[in-house]
Amino acid sequence: MVGWQQQIKTYSSHKQDNSLSLLANRQRAWIEVDLKALAHNVRTLKSFLGHQTKLMAVVKADAYGHGAVTVAQTALANGADCLAIATLAEGVELRQAGINVPILILGAINAPEDIQAIAAWQLEPTICNPEQALVVEATMAKVGTSLPVHLKLDTGMSRLGTNWQEATSFVQLVQQLSNLQIASIYSHCATAEESDRTMMNLQHQRFRNAIKQLKKVGYVPPLLHLANSAATLSDRSYHYDLVRVGLALYGLYSAPHLQQAIELKPVLQVKAKITQIKTIPAGEGVSYGRKFITSQDTKVAVVGIGYADGIPRNLSNRLEAIISGKLVPQIGSITMDQLMLNVDRIPDLKPGEIVTLIGQQNNLSITADDWANVLNTISWEILCSFKHRLPRININ
Ligand SMILES: *Cc1c(COP(=O)(O)O)cnc(C)c1O
Repeated sequence: MVGWQQQIKTYSSHKQDNSLSLLANRQRAWIEVDLKALAHNVRTLKSFLGHQTKLMAVVKADAYGHGAVTVAQTALANGADCLAIATLAEGVELRQAGINVPILILGAINAPEDIQAIAAWQLEPTICNPEQALVVEATMAKVGTSLPVHLKLDTGMSRLGTNWQEATSFVQLVQQLSNLQIASIYSHCATAEESDRTMMNLQHQRFRNAIKQLKKVGYVPPLLHLANSAATLSDRSYHYDLVRVGLALYGLYSAPHLQQAIELKPVLQVKAKITQIKTIPAGEGVSYGRKFITSQDTKVAVVGIGYADGIPRNLSNRLEAIISGKLVPQIGSITMDQLMLNVDRIPDLKPGEIVTLIGQQNNLSITADDWANVLNTISWEILCSFKHRLPRININ
């Protein structure tokens, strides 16, 4: 065995006996990754898609904080066809874990040494413009092999890609480069989660137009794709040959109106243990800056999780948690490693009891969307903000 396959073998045998598993416990605070929910979401998405459309599982940013290798393996075992990540290093991590399906790098990569690494690890880059195509061609000519590449068209996102009007000349140029094989042509939607379809329809129109121009000059694209989670759930005409699904894998909806399409289950839960319980008299301040003053004698639980774990400090005094099947309010400033809860409502509480900050218990549920709404951001950002100090514990 040579090259990256050899490295995979070395890495995975090393991984068996390292001490990472010792850290993956429920000692202080942790993230539970519900692999059954993930499997359900993947299977539900697959049956929603039908046979002619492939499912590309987007596992960039450590699978939106859930752990890229486990998520990728579970998604593939339940019907996902291929993977997408954002960076070279993210792709290498998956290869090192022995994953051998096609992996698309969504980000743009320009440096020749990075392109060589992409080829060595058998990853598939996005090509955004003719200049980049020429650099990749020159690099691959030196390496002496060819590379499957994915051409990106900009239809209105104004991020990566060649403007859709120039699709034909872009594709024709890449066709002439003997070391590049066009694996797909794709674009990305800027507003797919909005219920107003105006911009999305315009982007779709531009995408169709670009493809029509290509067909006019006799080029038949091997594979076309356009849809993220929102576009996938909102309109089947966006599915094409493949959909790039991120957020929906993790059981969240890009927007509330998309909930009617399919039934998804949240995959991630955030939990922590109570470390101390005490009663504070009326009129006392709680935490830094005394941003919460007790109005009566108050039973306070200290919990071992804070902003260094990725609990946004801006949620101070605006967060709720679930203990013993009841909702309780968080009080005072969230600190680096700890936060406080008002647990007046909960009798017989002891240190060591588990608090759910994101998750479901009985009929109660707190989701990343709830936090995002309070913070005026999006659930994607919440999921990606959990730090690696929180071990990811996989629940089967
Ligand atoms: C992140 C990303 C996706 C996945 O988006 P979701 O909304 O999470 O499904 C799809 N395509 C591209 C180009 C992306 O960058």
